[in-house]
Amino acid sequence: MSVSDKVQANTVRGPSGFLEIGGQMLVVDFGRIYQDGNPTGVIYDDGYLQNTSGLLGTYRKLRPIEAVPGCVFRGIDSNGLALVLPSDVPGPTGSMKFNNVLYHVVNGRIAASDHSLIGEVDDELNIFLRDKHLKEVQIKLDENTQLNTVFSGKKSSGEEIKHEWFRPLMKQDKNYSEAEMIRYFMDYDKLKAQQKKYLFENLKLWACCGMLHVVRKKEGNCALGNVKHGAAGQTGVRTGNVTLDKDEFNRDINLYYEHGCFAVVHTKYKPLCEVRVNLVVAHEFGHQLEFILSQATQDRIKELYRSRKKLCDEKHPLPDEYPGASELLPHEEVMNRLFISGYARSSHHEYWAECVAAYTIKESRRFLERHDPAIYAVLNDVVFNPEKVVQPNLVEWVQHLQAALRVGGEFSDQLLSGTT
Ligand SMILES: [Zn+2]
Repeated sequence: MSVSDKVQANTVRGPSGFLEIGGQMLVVDFGRIYQDGNPTGVIYDDGYLQNTSGLLGTYRKLRPIEAVPGCVFRGIDSNGLALVLPSDVPGPTGSMKFNNVLYHVVNGRIAASDHSLIGEVDDELNIFLRDKHLKEVQIKLDENTQLNTVFSGKKSSGEEIKHEWFRPLMKQDKNYSEAEMIRYFMDYDKLKAQQKKYLFENLKLWACCGMLHVVRKKEGNCALGNVKHGAAGQTGVRTGNVTLDKDEFNRDINLYYEHGCFAVVHTKYKPLCEVRVNLVVAHEFGHQLEFILSQATQDRIKELYRSRKKLCDEKHPLPDEYPGASELLPHEEVMNRLFISGYARSSHHEYWAECVAAYTIKESRRFLERHDPAIYAVLNDVVFNPEKVVQPNLVEWVQHLQAALRVGGEFSDQLLSGTT
């Protein structure tokens, strides 16, 4: 068996059902077509036939199902979603770039290079996605969910078309997540290289899963400014916009690139120290993110905070003379701290924001997973099962956006194994 044959044998993951032709029914099992029990060709999810013989005609090469007049497939695709080929709506043929990911379009079917069927596009260039996670076969994209799209080819009428659609107010030469982070951070153009890098590390995960977009639209964006009372940042209660203190922003960047996600700082209450999470942009984003969570999720966070605080008061009581609310502890207790950072003890809001920050970067995320599995599970749901945790009126928007982000190469089940 040659390498290419082997690849083909392994990747035949076609549909299952029946192929009707000339009044006869052929059985299709995971893409393999049988006539009276004998193999007679292959059909893929995207409607391409290959290596056919018998009733389907002897033809080795790939050709779309439309090339065999009167041939109709009915059944399910390799993901178990209902599938009829050809579909009754005519569509264009050509190539389509979706967030710069290249797809092939044949008679309105959007196909990946492995012949999986991504969705459909009509002659007006409306896009409908199939999504195995949502078990939906017709997710219509709109201006909130469609990513930059460039199509060139022919309509079903044969008319040549070149179509471009770009997300409004976004830098067109950037991919989705980068454009989204730039749009969120008002003063992006004033930043130096290391500040930009830091910003991207703080926000990349949230941009790729779609949450940054939803938060920005619902709550607001982020800008540099002067926050008087010495906090690193602040999230306006009324507007939901974030103002980051310039000096604190730079101090956090220095700490982050010097020490990593966590820093242990000495306090004047010797020998007690305090753990810091050096991810202020993700922290402030966390406050905005809390606003879009369902009431039940917010209550759950409060409950997790309260039980932790109770234990913390027993294990790491604060000195009487300390006016603050952070968890302080002797150096040897750092790995046994109750809160991910000292500041997380201050309130359930800060607890959540610090956990969001820690979840953002691989290094601190691993620690959070072991340290506080319950809040880690809530955060995992925010990214991968938003229907469980966000406000009910936002669920469909987030889900459809995530379906588009999967097709656009930004989001996948492996998102957390990426570099951040
Ligand atoms: Zn905060």
